[in-house]
Amino acid sequence: MMIIMKVDATPQQVEHVIERVKESGLAVHLSQGIEATIIGAIGETHNLATEQFEVLDGVDIVKRITQPFKLASRQFHPENSIFPLAGFNVGGDEIAIIAGPCSVESRSQIIETAIAVKEAGACALRGGVFKPRSSPYAFQGLGEDGLEYLSEARAQTGLPIVAEIMSQTQLELMVRYVDVMQVGARNMQNYNLLRALGETRTPVLLKRGLSATIEELLMSAEYILSGGNKQVMLCERGIRTYETSTRNTTDINAIPVLKNLTHLPVILDPSHSTGQADYVAAIARAAIAAGADGLIVEVHPDPAHAVSDGKQSLKPEKFAAMVKQVGQIAQIMGRKLASADGSQSPSKLGWI
Ligand code: PEP
Ligand code: MN
Repeated sequence: MMIIMKVDATPQQVEHVIERVKESGLAVHLSQGIEATIIGAIGETHNLATEQFEVLDGVDIVKRITQPFKLASRQFHPENSIFPLAGFNVGGDEIAIIAGPCSVESRSQIIETAIAVKEAGACALRGGVFKPRSSPYAFQGLGEDGLEYLSEARAQTGLPIVAEIMSQTQLELMVRYVDVMQVGARNMQNYNLLRALGETRTPVLLKRGLSATIEELLMSAEYILSGGNKQVMLCERGIRTYETSTRNTTDINAIPVLKNLTHLPVILDPSHSTGQADYVAAIARAAIAAGADGLIVEVHPDPAHAVSDGKQSLKPEKFAAMVKQVGQIAQIMGRKLASADGSQSPSKLGWI
């Protein structure tokens, strides 16, 4: 951490800051130029707030040199994190395509969709059973019945299940069914939920908040990692901007930025990031070309009658065409599409 003193800082103020740095258990490197005095604070600084020094008299700017998200950072873990899931790896050479409806609506709907997305080349099945809806009067999800239907779909197709958890009160139920816990955009900063997930060994797909910065996303991942759960995938799902022609704005930049800052796998959700089925394939292709490790895509057998997010859901045939294109781009990138082999997810076997 670098503490830059004001030009008119007094020697007493410099001395006081040095004392405070030492009290925090850090070593001091003093650089006194004609223009400015810079105090280097050396040691474990990720758990110290910059404000602690910013408030001191004579201090102008406090800058971190290392990232505040230590466990998520590439600085501390240069190799990609790769973790196994139902016969394939996430974060390595393989591109994971997770697909399924926004919400589980019925037994037949989820089983039909699971069979279709598997045939088209998906390696995991998504489906929400607890839905974060803008209106409390809108469909809220099927709960445990939905989880039972997802389990049946997994048994029939071998696809592992990705489903959203909205609260830690759902944890006990969800860990019994789900292979990957999705944390939705609205819950990215639900720190109690993140801590609870850190205590489990179930992989987590952490979505970026609607107006969260990349650093805030990584700090949220840090909550899960610091509990000992190392299996975190990050998901860019579009952010809110002034643009109204799409539901959100896909932050494609976030893919190379995240790949640079962190070793965690990065997934893109082109369904929520665009909000319109017609744009999903284009953004899916762009994501893989930009270096994403996977996609999570909404697919529905009858989007016109979907209870949620029908407008952005692909019909199975459109999804199959998208997967073909994505597969070609993956090849150019020296990667290949992952496929599930039906084996039990390691997390379900108590794998850590
Ligand atoms: C979803 O995946 O259906 C969902 C609600 O996503 P998000 O949290 O990104 O809005
Ligand atoms: Mn949705």
